[in-house]
This record gives sequence, structure tokens and C-alpha cells, in this order.
Amino acid sequence: MSQSLLEQFFPICAIAPTPKAIRTLQPLCETSGITLFVPSEFQTYRGVVPYTEKLSTHLNHIWSDYQAILFVFATGAVVRLIAPLLNDKCRDPAILVMDDAGENIISLCGGHQGGGEQLSRLLAQQLGGEAILTGASASLQLPGIDVMGKPFGWRQGRGDWTEVSRAIAHQTPVRVIQEVGSTLWQQHLPQDYCFQFHPRDTQAQAEVWITASEHHWDDKIARVQWHPRVLWVGVGCERGTPKTVIEQALQTTLQQYQLAESAIAGIATIELKADEAGILELAQNRNFPLKIYSAEELNQVTVPNPSTVVAQEVGTGSVAEAAALKAAQASSIERKQEIPQLLVSKQVFKADSGAVTLAVARSETEYIGRTGQLYLVGTGPGQVNQITPIARTAINQADAVIGYSLYLDLIQSLQRPGQIIESYAITQEKERAERAIALANWGLKVAVVSSGDAGIYGMAGLVFEQLARQHWDGKTPGVEVLPGITAMQAAAAKVGAPLMHDFCAISLSDLLTPWEIIEKRLTAAAQGDFITALYNPRSRSRMEHIKVAQTIFCRYQSPDTPVALVRSVSREDETIILTSLQEMLQHPIDMLTVVIIGNSSTREHQGWLITPRGYLGFNR
Ligand code: SAH
Repeated sequence: MSQSLLEQFFPICAIAPTPKAIRTLQPLCETSGITLFVPSEFQTYRGVVPYTEKLSTHLNHIWSDYQAILFVFATGAVVRLIAPLLNDKCRDPAILVMDDAGENIISLCGGHQGGGEQLSRLLAQQLGGEAILTGASASLQLPGIDVMGKPFGWRQGRGDWTEVSRAIAHQTPVRVIQEVGSTLWQQHLPQDYCFQFHPRDTQAQAEVWITASEHHWDDKIARVQWHPRVLWVGVGCERGTPKTVIEQALQTTLQQYQLAESAIAGIATIELKADEAGILELAQNRNFPLKIYSAEELNQVTVPNPSTVVAQEVGTGSVAEAAALKAAQASSIERKQEIPQLLVSKQVFKADSGAVTLAVARSETEYIGRTGQLYLVGTGPGQVNQITPIARTAINQADAVIGYSLYLDLIQSLQRPGQIIESYAITQEKERAERAIALANWGLKVAVVSSGDAGIYGMAGLVFEQLARQHWDGKTPGVEVLPGITAMQAAAAKVGAPLMHDFCAISLSDLLTPWEIIEKRLTAAAQGDFITALYNPRSRSRMEHIKVAQTIFCRYQSPDTPVALVRSVSREDETIILTSLQEMLQHPIDMLTVVIIGNSSTREHQGWLITPRGYLGFNR
């Protein structure tokens, strides 16, 4: 299993006490990098880590080393084992329990914050089992309120998380006040959600604030605050100003303007200060990205308080305000011209050991702080059971799923609460690819789904082409292609073994390929005696193409050559017709059909197509 799919849960370990449990987990652990602990008597199994002490002692030792622990024990035994160790739901590992066949995986503890629910889903998909989730938000088809901001890099602020979660679980009205950050999460809520988005809705029992401010309340209503990282702090300072002075200036500014430190995206300054120790230390200590701009770049930014003195010294009339605004502007995802807001204009702080100027700008788009990921997923011909386990996992794990509406409907059962689902019309391939890349560049994990295989007349190529056009470095965002069963394979499997010898696939769509080239390839395939699968055989605007294709094949192949017309394979309205080259046009062929034309040795036997490979001797 791909590491990147489980990355957010690592390190993970599993504890398997019996040979059966070991056999169930061993392949998964080996491919995914999960540590598999086993009692020492089973140390000869491949890839396991034996423990010699009592299990409770062993558990005590490893408790804080793992973010998630999967037990293959009776639930009661696990409850007893972990009870003395449970301490803090924000820091304890997620605890999962499964039966030794991997049929049921219970998310026991650390459901939301520890990611236990999500991890249970992923592992269940890998093992072909079921995730047992008892959290209230899972049954409400909502993401937990304490995890909903995570994909967007939001930070949890002050608040009564337990009480607000309870209000949501009881489906009492909860008011949402969103001041900043992406509203994408609002677009995919279940129909009967309990959130209220209008301030005039008065009966709310609890409130969720999504804000860059640090609110302090003293009335009784339960509230929580999420802080999207939208604040960019522009910093200028005298040479040698210590970190503590800059830090103090920042604290004072945040307090004065009631801004939340957790809402800080990063800091920005001028090239001249790229080696300023105090600024570098602050960025490093707080894990803030540091953006550096040249005097020339900063000079182009319009600011409220330019200074001629500064302009003479460093070549730009503003450092702090201009750098803050520039950084805020640069974080826009859609390359649209968002105008950032200067929340705090230039503040000057003088200390004995230096001087600092600070300004704070707010970006429209929050900083996620993660490298995004594109999963180019093939979902197979139709039924969900024809999707590979890893492709299912990628779909389920993604923050956003993008695809053609019909295919998204087919994989609805794999979607999970809180996911962003964006469906597009069949013709909008470019828009789909652009959107997916924009979201991944921003920092989201995005699954782009294609039916069949994503790399066979699917979205994979287009996404790569567009990435390359944007001078992609091959790594950021990460890309993974997850193959699927293409229509040709699914159709072939339904009719027997027609692809047993050299074959090719040709699309009859001339929307993107000149018809002369298609004709040339058809001729070559027929001449070369390839078994040929025709994709996109006919549409309303291309009624004649299939006739031309048939004529070309008739020129080189016997009129009796077996042909399979397979329509909507693996979907509800699947139809299969076995015919011959000369008679194929007497049957309906449309855009949902794949046509398989045999080679000179393909033959039909009792309703099955067989292309001999030659094991039983050449029979030509
Ligand atoms: N990426 C897809 C192909 C997309 S092109 C894949 O790998 O299968 C669309 C063409 O694929 C259709 O015109 C049809 O010829 C074929 N096709 C896709 N799904 C099909 C299905 N379930 N049954 C038969 N043909 C199918």
C-alpha cells in the first residue's frame, strides 16, 4: 500500500498474538510500513518484530511511540490493557481493534483527533473488511467538528470542544460564524445538518467560529474556534535585533488587535533581511514559512504608509506592509486577483537592543502548510467491487474528489463525510484537471477519477500535461497513478479470452485525433493481425466511423472474424453481443460500447471467444 495514503497516521503498529492474525496482517504491514509486533514464539514469521516481555509491559514501553495501535484481540481485553495508559485524548494514540480475519475493524479510541475512524476505514478497505464506527458524527455523515478544519491546515483554538460536539451529536442548532478561510466544507454537508449560517437564526445552542481573531467570551453558550492560517506578518528590523524583541513586538501586536497566533500563516520580509538571525530564528522556532521579496518587488506594492527615508535606504518605501501584502496576495490558489486586506498597518517597536516594524495582512486563501497530492484513479468499468483496494483507499482518503458526474455517482459508496466532491460535465476535462491541480498546489489531497483506467483515454495524461506546462518539478504536488480495469479488459473477461495474443486499442473519436491518423492505425492493426479493441466507437456526431473501421478490417481479415460488442460492461444495463466482422453493423453500437475484433485465429466456442496463444500448437 502506498505510504502517502497512510502518511498522516504514521507511525502505526499492530499487535498480533496468533498465527492467523499474523497471516492476516503480514502482507499489509509489509507493504505499508506498519510495525507488526508478535509474541516471541512467532518470531520466525517474515517481517515481524517479536516482543519478549508481558504484553502490558510492552504496551507501556511503546505507548507514546505510535500514533495508532491496531490490536488483534478481544475488545474487552484491549479495554483492560489500555485503561491504565489512557491519559489525554489529544495525545494518546488512536486505538483500533480487529478480529483475526480482518473482517471488522473497530475504532475504539482517538476516533476524531487521533484519526482512528479514518484509519479504520482505510485498513478495512485494504483488508476487505468493515470499519465499525460508533462516533456520533460518523452516523450523522458529518466530519467531526474537531477535525473538519484539518484538511485546510486550520488550527484549533480555544473552546469547549466536548460541549459543541455534543450539541452537534444531539442535532441541536449550532451557529457557524465563518469570518475567514475556505467555505468549501460547507458545500458538501448532508441535507439534515444542524448548522445555521445566518446570524439572525437565534435558537442556536452552540457556536463554531472560524476566525483569525482571538475571541474571549464570558456568556454561557458553548463555543469553539478554528483558526485558518490567513495572517501574513510583514517584518522589518534593524540589523542585529534579537529574536525576543521581534517576538515581543509580535505578541503585543496580536494582543492589541485581538488576533490569534494560531491564525498566522507565515512571515515575510525583504531580501536584505534574508540572513537576519532574529527573523530566521523566529520563523524556525514557530515553524513559520518565511517569504523573502526583493526591494523591487516590494516597491510595486501600494501601501498606506510609505516612507521616503526607508526608500532611500533599502530601495522600497515599505518593508513590513508591502511584504505582508505581497505574501498574502501570493497565497491565492486560483491565480485570481484577490486583494488582501491590511489588518494592521505599520507598527514600530523600539527596544534597547534593536527596533522592529510589523504589519499584518490577511489573505483570502488560507495557508495549508502541506504538500498536496494528486491521485489519478481508475475506477474500473462500473461496479465498485471492480475497483482495486488501493484505488478505493485513495478515493476515500482524498480531501477532494473530482470527476465526471456519472462516474462519481457510481462510486458514491466510497465517499466519506466531509469530503469535497466536485462533479463536472463530460466535456470539461480541462477544467477538471486545472481545478485538481489548483487544489493540490494549495495543499489538498485530490483524487481525480476516471472510469476504467485513468491512463487509458482517461484524465491521467491531461493532468500530467498541464502540470508539465506549469513547470512542475515532478514532486510538488506529489502524483500517484492508481490503475484500474479498462473497458477492454472487462469486456474481454466477459466474453472469454480474446486478448490472448498481441492486441491494440484504437479510439474512433476524432475530437482530439485527426481522422486520417485513426484510419492509418486501423489499417495497420488489421494488417498486423492484432486483436483490436475499439473505444468511442460511435456517437451522434460520428455515426460513420465504425462503418469505415469495419470496411478497413474486412479488407485484411476474414468476414467471419469473431467480434464482441460489449456495452456498459459491469453496469446494470450490461449487454453482450457476439457477432462477426461482416455482421457487426447490424447490431446497436454506441458510446457505451467497446468493440473487440478478433485476430485471424480467434474463434467462438459455445458462446465464448478464444484466441489461441499456441500452447496446443499452431492451428492456423
Ligand atoms: N478510461 C476508460 C476509457 C474512457 S473512453 C477506460 O479505461 O475504460 C470512453 C470509452 O470507453 C467509451 O466510449 C467506451 O468505448 C469505453 N467504455 C468505458 N466504459 C465502458 C463500459 N463500462 N462498457 C463498455 N465500454 C466502456
